[in-house]
Amino acid sequence: MINLILFGPPGSGKGTQATKLIEKYGLLHISTGDLFRYEMGNNTPLGLEAKSFMEKGELVPDTVTIGMLKNKVDANPDVSGYIFDGFPRTVPQAEALDLLLQEKGHAISALIALHVDDEEIVKRILTRGVSSGRADDNDEAIIRKRINVYKSETSQVFDFYDKTGKSKSINGIGSIDEIFENISGLIDALSIAENN
Ligand code: ADP
Repeated sequence: MINLILFGPPGSGKGTQATKLIEKYGLLHISTGDLFRYEMGNNTPLGLEAKSFMEKGELVPDTVTIGMLKNKVDANPDVSGYIFDGFPRTVPQAEALDLLLQEKGHAISALIALHVDDEEIVKRILTRGVSSGRADDNDEAIIRKRINVYKSETSQVFDFYDKTGKSKSINGIGSIDEIFENISGLIDALSIAENN
């Protein structure tokens, strides 16, 4: 089983790469951002709770996020692996994820981090905002807030998995296909290592 964390600041291309990866490797894509937007769209209590944080560019509290993630994993046991996108975003989320997988006899294979500089991120998200209609994509101050939350809270998740040698870095600037080739190279090396 290959379980990946697709990691990087907002707008680094995680969603784009995840779409290509699920096609190539047949993994289940779990994006907490997408799950929250689905709940918001349906006006569920969970969606309403998440909305207030997302609109400000803040993180949704860990207990809410971890509970939602766990439900999604539990509902899909028969898969050949997971791609976690937008999760974990804090160290407690990473600890909860490790425990959840461990209970099922699995583990994270690698965290793949896409590196993109701040100004490129702001440019990309403002462009995405034109078509995504996301409130958090249309306001430069909120975008910068999300980048700051990434630096202050989320980047520690890279260090957390780096301690066990699982964190890998990829340049997130370049063509979509070029970046995809680089990620695929890492995954193929992991599969070879797992099979030996
Ligand atoms: P981005 O393009 O900013 O990475 P996402 O769609 O992954 O966007 O997430 C959008 C928002 O949803 C975040 O800014 C945050 O408010 C909330 N969110 C998503 N995943 C998490 C998480 N793991 N923990 C807390 N909040 C989250």
